[in-house]
Amino acid sequence: MNLLEFEGKALLRESGIRVPPGQRVTSPDQLQTMHYPVVIKSQVPIGGRGKSGGICVAETVDDAKEAYERIRKLRIKGYLPSAILAEEAVQIRQELYFSLSVDRRSKMELLLFSEAGGMDIEKVDKERIKAISIDPILGLQDYQLALILLHATIEEKAKVGLKQVIRGLYGVFKARKLELLEINPLVLDSAGEWVCVDSKIVLDDNLCHKNSQEAAKAPSSFEEATHGLGVNGVELEGDIALITSGAGAGLATIDELKSHGGTVRAFVDLGSLVYDRDKMMEVIELVYDLKPKVVLFNFYFQVARCDTLSEAIVNSLRDIPVVVRARGKYEEEAREMLAQHGCYATREFNDAVVKTIEMVSRERTAYGNLG
Ligand code: GDP
Ligand code: MN
Repeated sequence: MNLLEFEGKALLRESGIRVPPGQRVTSPDQLQTMHYPVVIKSQVPIGGRGKSGGICVAETVDDAKEAYERIRKLRIKGYLPSAILAEEAVQIRQELYFSLSVDRRSKMELLLFSEAGGMDIEKVDKERIKAISIDPILGLQDYQLALILLHATIEEKAKVGLKQVIRGLYGVFKARKLELLEINPLVLDSAGEWVCVDSKIVLDDNLCHKNSQEAAKAPSSFEEATHGLGVNGVELEGDIALITSGAGAGLATIDELKSHGGTVRAFVDLGSLVYDRDKMMEVIELVYDLKPKVVLFNFYFQVARCDTLSEAIVNSLRDIPVVVRARGKYEEEAREMLAQHGCYATREFNDAVVKTIEMVSRERTAYGNLG
């Protein structure tokens, strides 16, 4: 299901992404109280409105009223507008193209980025488009973000903000399980802030319950909450919740669990949260809320401390078995603390995987017939 621009922007705004202030206009009187200049935008389920006269920047209330009356009756590629959107005009310093979509065949996520913002992506030279394939389990990695922005002609300060916006957009894309999220243009305004000036969002039809559009828009609260804490969390349908640090460790562990017949309930890459005990605890709590049969922690630290991790684990324990593989500074202390609190702690990866699988089958036989 395709959302109209103003519906898509409402969803973005709700998720804390910056969009221009504005409103759906049903009577020209509403144009009186806005801050000028204002942009009047036809809400049709199709792009290219700019070129078809469906977008108009108005300096005064009179201009806006005139544009409103004209655009209301203007047919674009056969469509009359379902609504008219009026927004405070953004002062454009730079326009980018940005999109996220799902490639059904490879089951990978595709991020497209171009400095040729505002134009139809089909008409932009291939060399000017950066494409990044994202593993949906691992999520967008920092190095991938760094890669697409490496040679971009964007001020350093604005680059920092742009990374945050892209992280935010990726969070929305994941949490709402969107098929497409396209922002064209994504604009750097005169105040140096990134604003989504246009939005094209396609919801997954399988998630659109027959009668309820709202249900389809409801995010997986786990994924949204983990992204809110600054980490990539993925909710799946298996038994084992897996918490690691780094994409490599995550992939290796998922493969190993699968080869032993294990299934994953959730995966979280703690990334740089490994230095922050309290934040880690918040993430661990979210994982427990999914009621996995076993939680497996797999950590091989180079710099961070194992005891910070073990403190976070023992402080958030619940009635769910925990297996921890920990290597790095203070690993003995960490394992001792964990063992004292009834966790299975080991320094060997294979040992941790085998123990996890064992515990899952024990949980399954204990509760299997109760559903
Ligand atoms: P589309 O043509 O259907 O994709 O509609 P857009 O919302 O992308 O608008 C088309 C173009 O109008 C953009 O690429 C901008 O250049 C311009 N535009 C839209 N909103 C604003 C605005 O608030 N301020 C300015 N200066 N230009 C805008
Ligand atoms: Mn556009």
